[in-house]
Amino acid sequence: MICLTLSGNTLSSCLDEIRQNREYIDMAELRLDLLDPEEQLKAASFPEQAGIPLILTMRRKEDGGRCTLSEKERRQILLSALDGDFSYIDIEEDIKRNEVEDKAREKGVRIIRSFHDFSGIPDDIYSRIYRLSERGDVAKAAVTPHSIHDLLKLFRIADELKDVPKIIIGMGDWGIPIRILYRKAGSLLTFACSGEAVAPGQVSAKDLKLLYRADRVDERTGIYGIIGNPVLHTSSPLIHNLGFHAINYNAIYLPFLVDNVRIFFALAEYLRMRGFSVTIPFKDSVLMYLGNISREVKQIGACNTVVRMPGMWKGMNTDYYGFLNPILKDIESGRIHNALVIGAGGASQAIVWALRNRGVKVTILNRTLTRAEKLARLNICEYDTLDNASKYEGKVDLVVQTTSVGLYPDFDISPIDFHFTGKEIAYDIIYKPRMTKFLRDAEAAGCTLHYGEEMLLDQGKLQFELFTGYHYPKDAAPGL
Ligand code: NAP
Repeated sequence: MICLTLSGNTLSSCLDEIRQNREYIDMAELRLDLLDPEEQLKAASFPEQAGIPLILTMRRKEDGGRCTLSEKERRQILLSALDGDFSYIDIEEDIKRNEVEDKAREKGVRIIRSFHDFSGIPDDIYSRIYRLSERGDVAKAAVTPHSIHDLLKLFRIADELKDVPKIIIGMGDWGIPIRILYRKAGSLLTFACSGEAVAPGQVSAKDLKLLYRADRVDERTGIYGIIGNPVLHTSSPLIHNLGFHAINYNAIYLPFLVDNVRIFFALAEYLRMRGFSVTIPFKDSVLMYLGNISREVKQIGACNTVVRMPGMWKGMNTDYYGFLNPILKDIESGRIHNALVIGAGGASQAIVWALRNRGVKVTILNRTLTRAEKLARLNICEYDTLDNASKYEGKVDLVVQTTSVGLYPDFDISPIDFHFTGKEIAYDIIYKPRMTKFLRDAEAAGCTLHYGEEMLLDQGKLQFELFTGYHYPKDAAPGL
């Protein structure tokens, strides 16, 4: 179930939130502690108006809520709210049996017995969850993973405590996979926010339902993802999930923040993942865990696509194809003979290789000259410093911008001071923003432009084929 946490300070604003999200959610949590004091006293009337199963919660400040009332006052408000037909009530682990619990049991309101840990994951998490469920209640653990190892520990709860009714929440960025794959963790429900995510770790009800189809994950769902650090800004889940939906393929693709590739592979095995994309900074470090690598990965030295094969993982590279595809005709027609590539980082490795592989003469310009030199040696091309960019004005057919300079929110900077003649093809691989300062300069001179989103989409489409064995559906192309 997808459960919307209501964040309004009045009952009517909470009702609006339910209406706006109704098609994405199965239930909602009314947080009395977020309501104005006079509204708290009217909460008993809410279930009838909401028309949806509800959890009643009054979260204390020490558990991350806003309630600072005495325990006696909090009990009185909960007791009065229980006159309404709530489906569940959240009662914290340390609260001894009292009249709120008695009234809830009498009315058949299911008890969620919860604990919160904002600093980490308690060592005894498995036994603690088990104890909370002993009276037939739903155990809820809201804890804070800080690594991929912590995340694996949370996913393992599904096997360690198979038949225990439970809700597992991973707070913060590291916990996002468990919020999305909550059914894999054996969690009864996942909590969602309204509209766009407003805090790290939150996923909106709309994204859970429409983008990830999280409530439909079952034993047969193929699990795919992207690993990186940072990774949460990536548009890849949009490309792959929309592709899966369009061909009715039972699969899900989600972002994994990773700090240790080796442990991520353990998680990938545990979840029986079928494949994943790789981004900064793991395109090199992933190589030592692969049983098989493609010719391109061998030559480029970087892998952005990993696919499960019988008994091993295979690494491939689709970045070079994604880059090349939009300009292939210009290379084949002879319009592009020589190119200036700005940057010598991970993306540049695949780009320089792709251009050289097609016979294009390349000069690499980079801030750190030794890095440009190393890449140039590997691919038999020229190199220079960024300051010498003007030397190449009027002498190249293609200028490719591969550095991170100009990336959102730096709309007004370019890594080079370069006067375009208007005859060049200008290609910036940054996709946020679509129109960088580099491309604006080229456009002003009348150049043909290529955008980072073209590369992103084309590398993603090939990756989709490697993941699923199907062509990327034509009508699924997302507006990134
Ligand atoms: P990377 O390995 O970290 O390389 C970064 C490059 O940017 C290096 O050449 C670095 O120069 C240069 N750089 C960084 N800050 C600079 C500055 N202030 N002045 C001059 N140069 C600077 O990153 P990457 O993986 O190659 O990614 C680079 C960009 O490409 C990112 O914006 C990424 O989003 C984008 N990208 C797009 C796609 C796509 O599909 N469209 C795919 C991959 C990457 P030094 O060597 O001197 O540090």
